[in-house]
Amino acid sequence: MALTIAIDGPAGAGKSSAAKGVARMLDVDYIDTGAMYRALTWWMLEHGIDIDEHDQIAAHAHDPDIKITWDPDQPKIVVDEQDVTAAIRESRVSDCVSRVSAVPAIRSRLVDLQRAMVAQSVRSGRGVVMEGRDIGTVVLPDASVKVFLTADVEVRAARRAAEDRVRDPNSNADHSDAALANLKDRDAIDSTRVASPLTMAADAVQIDATDLTLDEVIAAIASLAAQRW
Ligand code: C5P
Repeated sequence: MALTIAIDGPAGAGKSSAAKGVARMLDVDYIDTGAMYRALTWWMLEHGIDIDEHDQIAAHAHDPDIKITWDPDQPKIVVDEQDVTAAIRESRVSDCVSRVSAVPAIRSRLVDLQRAMVAQSVRSGRGVVMEGRDIGTVVLPDASVKVFLTADVEVRAARRAAEDRVRDPNSNADHSDAALANLKDRDAIDSTRVASPLTMAADAVQIDATDLTLDEVIAAIASLAAQRW
C-alpha cells in the first residue's frame, strides 16, 4: 500500500504550506481539497446562484467540471476549462465558501472525487498528502497518518493577512481585521455544520503550529510518517 497522509485543521493553520512541503520531501502527490470547495463556490457565484438557497446549490452540485493538479510546485485548478487558481482565493469566494461547503450534495460529490483521486494515486504506487477539514474523519478514515494542525487564531489571521497583502499589494483594505473576521466566521460554520463538521479524528495527532516554523511542522509530519508507515 502507498502512504496516505491526512491533514485537517482550521483555516489559516498552515495546512497547505505544510502539506506541500511534506509532498516535496516524501515525493508524493498533493491534493488541496479546500481548492475544490472554493472552485464549486466560484462557479455558483459566476452563475448567479443564491448562496443561501441550499436547494439551488444542491441542484447544481454536479454541473461544473473540475480538474486539479497533484503537483505541490504547480497548484492549478480548472473549472469548465477556465483556470481559476487565482480567482478562488478572492475574498468574494472566501466569504461564501463555508456556506456552500455545508450543503451535503456538494460534500458527497467532492468526497467521491477526492477518494477517486487517492485511489488513482495509490494504484500508481505513489503516496498522497491530502489536506482539508474532513480528510481523517470522512474521506480517508484508513489514512496511514492523520494530523490535526492548529494554531492560535491571531497567529492564523496574521499569516493569512500577510498572504492577502502579497496577493493584493495595491489594496488599502485592512487585511488583518478582514482575515481575522473571515477565519472566525469560517471556523464557526465549518465546526458546527451537520454534514462532516471540522473535528479531530480519534486517531489523529494534534500539532499546534503557534510557535513552530514551517520547517518544524513539515519535519514533525514527516517523522510521524516514518514511524507509522
Ligand atoms: O482550506 P481552505 O481554507 O481553502 O478551505 C476553504 C473552505 O472549504 C473551508 O473553510 C471549508 O468550508 C471548506 N472545506 C471543507 N472540507 C474540506 C476542505 C475545505 O468543508 N475537506
